[in-house]
Amino acid sequence: MEKDAALGAWELPHELRMLRDSVRRFMQEEVRPAEDGLPHDATRLPAETLKRLQAKARPLGLWQIESPAEWGGAGLGLLGQAVVAEESSQCKMGAYIPAGHAFGWDPPNVIFRGTEDQIRRYAVPVMESGDKSFVAISEPGGGSDPGRAIETRAERRGDRYILNGTKTWISGVGDSDWGVLFARTGPGKGRDGITAFVVEKGFKGFSYKPIPVIRSYSPYEISLVDCEVPVENRLGEEGGGFKLAETWLVHARVPYAAAVIGVAQAALALAIDWARNREVFRSKLADKQAIQWMIADSEIELRAARLLVYQAAWHGDLGRDIKMETSIAKVYATEAAGRVVDRCMQIFGGLGVAQEMPLERWYRELRIKRIGEGPSEVHRMVVSRELLNSQTRS
Ligand SMILES: Cc1cc2nc3c(=O)[nH]c(=O)nc-3n(C[C@H](O)[C@H](O)[C@H](O)COP(=O)(O)OP(=O)(O)OC[C@H]3O[C@@H](n4cnc5c(N)ncnc54)[C@H](O)[C@@H]3O)c2cc1C
Repeated sequence: MEKDAALGAWELPHELRMLRDSVRRFMQEEVRPAEDGLPHDATRLPAETLKRLQAKARPLGLWQIESPAEWGGAGLGLLGQAVVAEESSQCKMGAYIPAGHAFGWDPPNVIFRGTEDQIRRYAVPVMESGDKSFVAISEPGGGSDPGRAIETRAERRGDRYILNGTKTWISGVGDSDWGVLFARTGPGKGRDGITAFVVEKGFKGFSYKPIPVIRSYSPYEISLVDCEVPVENRLGEEGGGFKLAETWLVHARVPYAAAVIGVAQAALALAIDWARNREVFRSKLADKQAIQWMIADSEIELRAARLLVYQAAWHGDLGRDIKMETSIAKVYATEAAGRVVDRCMQIFGGLGVAQEMPLERWYRELRIKRIGEGPSEVHRMVVSRELLNSQTRS
């Protein structure tokens, strides 16, 4: 009895287990078959297939996972988002599929901190269509420390802001009509001089080009030359851009970390299956201790990563500050997932690096995850700073 009660504390709540099963079924029955026959490096489903999947996902409540229920989203908490991200990334396209494709890209959540007019003009249409919107923070001068590195200037002239500068590594620009872009209105004020704007791709002075990277889904460089942005497109107050987005940026690491666990879990399932069947030196791979240990280490690391993500999500859903918890979860999950996929490739031998398997694709994608949403070193800095400062205080 006591043991059951203790176990209960570590189980997902009933409704989230139902949600997990529903996403799992959807991925098995709808998404994975739809991916059959797609090129190895495909980053999207054919338009007709996507429409069909989206039409099936919506009535299941698998639509706009993160967006607030009052605006028609599923309004899931962080734990729910983690569950969906982990299940929905267990497919060939891995971390692209989650809320992104079949379940409709959520608009950048910070838009819901804007005015009703901004929400109606920008968020509501993409919530309906499921289309992507971009978030542009990073610049050539650095993405790790954007409070200092953002140099893109936004100068107010009458009822417009004139933006000049360059944004780099921005995901999804090619697929978006608009995005939230952070620019400097207050020179010399660090983070307090940054303001957020909703910027349309069609605004005069806005141009972009892809930057080819290790994976097939390229981020973009945005160039702003006297780009005119109406004053009513400013999100929040001048200088309040970071404060407006801070909690959301911290929370976004939860589904990010959960998605990489899903990718690695899918890789491990393939490797286990292969090890059971592949015979070398007159016995199955599964009978060799070297392979058993790779499998065991992978499971151990994935379970630890999942608990760290769940713990961060759980604290966040209780309204607590989870800056340190999400940094820990992000570093551990992205690094562990990379190790797991690497081991799985090893278990497959030559086939592990062949394009007929999804492993090499996942391996390249996971490499990026140690840099995107803040490099591992920055998150280690956050954790150590927190510990060192609190030790100083005690
Ligand atoms: C594929 C991809 C998609 C992306 N999508 C987006 C997007 O949609 N929007 C967006 O705004 N940005 C996006 N980024 C940018 C990403 O957030 C940045 O690349 C990241 O924050 C690092 O910034 P940087 O590349 O300028 O590296 P830098 O800030 O120059 O850092 C370089 C390296 O220095 C080290 N380092 C940094 N700080 C410390 C420290 N305190 N201590 C020790 N070492 C440190 C780290 O190893 C780091 O990798 C994307 C990046 C990639 C690769």
